[in-house]
Amino acid sequence: MSTYRLIDRLRIPTYDNEAYVTLARVSIDQTRCNGCGLCVQICPGSALVLEGAGKERRAVMDKVNPQCMSCNDCAAICKRSAIKVAVPYDYGYRFKNIDRGVLTAPRTFTISKGDR
Ligand code: SF4
Ligand code: SF4
Repeated sequence: MSTYRLIDRLRIPTYDNEAYVTLARVSIDQTRCNGCGLCVQICPGSALVLEGAGKERRAVMDKVNPQCMSCNDCAAICKRSAIKVAVPYDYGYRFKNIDRGVLTAPRTFTISKGDR
């Protein structure tokens, strides 16, 4: 059975701990952005916010606590191609693969009559 040593456990990076990771950053071309807000809605890290009002509304990174993991969802949804990941998310430590076992075929599901 696989085990983690204590030093491994202490070094397992966590998503929201800046001591363990370099959070990603996106650059938003403010001349392209029209403030539609789609990127803000889709961001899983709540890293983007809208600033300004009316025609001056623009998307920016949250200045307080931007939890960006460079998923690129915002870049994908932006119809104006205004967003690019400028700094990729990176772990401070390296992963250690422990006993991944051998490859096996995916298990199959059987549905019993009672589940239907
Ligand atoms: S999706 Fe694009 S255009 Fe819309 S707010 Fe975000 S950056 Fe601006
Ligand atoms: S790359 Fe992902 S996590 Fe980062 S700001 Fe865009 S949607 Fe949010």
